[in-house]
Amino acid sequence: MTMGKDWQSSACILCSINCGIDVAVEEGRFTGIRGDREHPGSRGYLCQKATRLDHYQNHARRLQQPLRRRPDGSYERIDWETAIREVADRLVGIRDRHGGHAIAYYGGGGQGNHLGGAYAGPFRAALGTPYLYNSLAQEKTGDFWVNGRLFGKQTCHVTEGIEESDYVLIIGANPWQSHGFPRARKVLQELSRDPRRTLVVVDPRRTRSAELADVHLQVRPGTDAFLLAGLLAVIVQEELEDGDFLAARTLGYDELRAILLRVPVEQYADRAGIDAEAVRRVARGFAAADSACSRHDLGVEHSLHSTLNTYLEKLLPLLTGNFARPGGNNLHTQFIPLIGHSKEPEEGGATTRVTGMREISKLFPPNILPAEIEADRPDRVRAVVVDSANPLQTAADTGAYRRAFGKLDLLVAIDVAETETVGMADYVLPASSQYEKWEATFFTLGFPTNHFHLRRPILPPTGDTLPEPEIYRRLMVAMGALPARLPWLERFARWHRRFPKLGLLPKALAVTLALRPQLRPYLTMVLYATLGKALPDGAAAAAVVWGSSRFYAGRYARQVRRAGHAGSGAMLGEALFQGILDSDTAVPLSTHEHDEMWDLVRHPGQKIHLAVPEMLGELEELASEPMERPGEGEFPFVLAAGERRSYNANQIYRDPAWRRSDREGALRIHPEDAARLGLADGQRVVCESANGAVEAQLAHDDSLLPGSLSLPHGYGQEYPDPEAPDEFRQTGPRINELTSADRCDPWAKTPYHKYVPVRVRAAAS
Ligand code: SF4
Repeated sequence: MTMGKDWQSSACILCSINCGIDVAVEEGRFTGIRGDREHPGSRGYLCQKATRLDHYQNHARRLQQPLRRRPDGSYERIDWETAIREVADRLVGIRDRHGGHAIAYYGGGGQGNHLGGAYAGPFRAALGTPYLYNSLAQEKTGDFWVNGRLFGKQTCHVTEGIEESDYVLIIGANPWQSHGFPRARKVLQELSRDPRRTLVVVDPRRTRSAELADVHLQVRPGTDAFLLAGLLAVIVQEELEDGDFLAARTLGYDELRAILLRVPVEQYADRAGIDAEAVRRVARGFAAADSACSRHDLGVEHSLHSTLNTYLEKLLPLLTGNFARPGGNNLHTQFIPLIGHSKEPEEGGATTRVTGMREISKLFPPNILPAEIEADRPDRVRAVVVDSANPLQTAADTGAYRRAFGKLDLLVAIDVAETETVGMADYVLPASSQYEKWEATFFTLGFPTNHFHLRRPILPPTGDTLPEPEIYRRLMVAMGALPARLPWLERFARWHRRFPKLGLLPKALAVTLALRPQLRPYLTMVLYATLGKALPDGAAAAAVVWGSSRFYAGRYARQVRRAGHAGSGAMLGEALFQGILDSDTAVPLSTHEHDEMWDLVRHPGQKIHLAVPEMLGELEELASEPMERPGEGEFPFVLAAGERRSYNANQIYRDPAWRRSDREGALRIHPEDAARLGLADGQRVVCESANGAVEAQLAHDDSLLPGSLSLPHGYGQEYPDPEAPDEFRQTGPRINELTSADRCDPWAKTPYHKYVPVRVRAAAS
């Protein structure tokens, strides 16, 4: 990279793409941000959000020091030693009195940290808690569960070859704002300009992505499953499927086909509000294209039939043979896995004590946590540790979370910023920001080439903050789970760094874990505490990357070498780790041939199991499902709660000044609806659901369908009023005052945020 003396390499942390950035820093402030042209994924690309990152790093709500709540609700500053000792004592007390299931862990690897999440596992093991709640489980677990059934493990994750594809179908996403794949705006524009390629966008709103599309199917909210079933039915009924692919690579097609043959295409298209001929044209185009892929996102995951939607969307490339080929959909490798695989309850998989909810991908859904806390039972949850998450604002039903957290024996918050959840905590443990500690990209979702970006700190820690791995290590030592030092292993780690060919550290680890088996669940923390000390420039948190590099290179040796790393056996892993450690920017981990993708399918014989009984049952039941009539009754509008817009991001971004537009997070309404209700553009209104009410500023917007409304996520935070700094002002609506935990997907308990029945009226003031 050509770096001026003031430019340092890092990454934008505002979405899963983690574009590479160069940052100029002066006196603790970001005075320049530009795209990193050397980054192999983003290649210099940035969207408008990244240039405002100084507002993430520097604002009045950054946490600086450990805090303890006084009986009157105010906070006092305490030192780290006191904070660690008291938190550890209270957690151990609850665990020993009530069992590990009395403690829940929420977040980890979220908005404030990525690499720290890799060290939260040992901490949870020390707590003895089976409960990991995470925002992924209010969005993606239905999709993960379907992946487990189709491909054999819930860790099998599908990506899209959009850049190379001739025919791209995007449903429930507006990549112009939400991205979800690298260089999204450029890729959408390239697709739009090329007359030989087709972009289809399925969305109830005419988004910027929809405007760029060749075909916009403006589907009625909540009817995606009908539209997808219609598309698949056309493919089957007109015999457009790829018979050779289905015979060679899949099982269960006959069962699926029999159901799709019975789907009444005209009727389903009509229900989705789409002309049946348009449905047929898209199905034929997708099936006939030289290459085609599909992509879905929150728009369908947060709507009716959430899990079924993700199943049906995946069947499009599978029935047409657009899988494991350029421009199609593909599975990808995972370097430091974000999720795991959970068994079904009948196979011995974990469930919660109160609601009996099963674990998916080793995660539990935030939707059920208030019920797990509030139950009048001895085995309820009594303590919660929240790391880098703000469930009080981001999980469904803010009121339920407020009540439930108020009943806990102990709430501990580890975070970068003073969020609403931090405001209820008994203890607050302040973490350094993503630019003040060693960090990494966790969303390694690329295929055929996958990348990983280990990032150095570019600023010193704010106040008395610590990186999360160090917070967890100190807690584990204070709990008696981990020795304060492991000098024998530390010595072997140092020697290993000097003479990696001797393999001293793996041997010493094996001996240590054989002699002290109680340390086995804490392996990543043992690495942090030992190898971490031998890594240069304070890169202790990178210790887990060493283990991942060796494992990954062992499993994908050919592909790692193809990506440019040299060596064989364990030394290939060492070379990969050193390459990552030495690089300023992202490093290609591996490059697959498309045929090699089949090794990532985990069913025996690498066959895809198309017939998922639960999904086939729900698909058949669509035929008799009563029509939702959102225009009638007490709550006549359908609200999409959580739209991605130009200036919404995570919960650490608290200063409203970071937004250049839409400062109040307007409630969007179709002008015809507004005229009927006599509501003017810019007027203050109240939006009410069966669950609660929020006040918002109204904006007329004819890109919506009449009868639907939209509000953005990421608003509703309190921040000191610039004109009266001792007072706080809330900016924009808290959308989860409106949402309900009960309205959710039956399989994964993901809430229907994009389908909230509401009414709207003028505000009194
Ligand atoms: S797409 Fe935008 S928000 Fe996402 S990482 Fe890149 S610059 Fe940041």
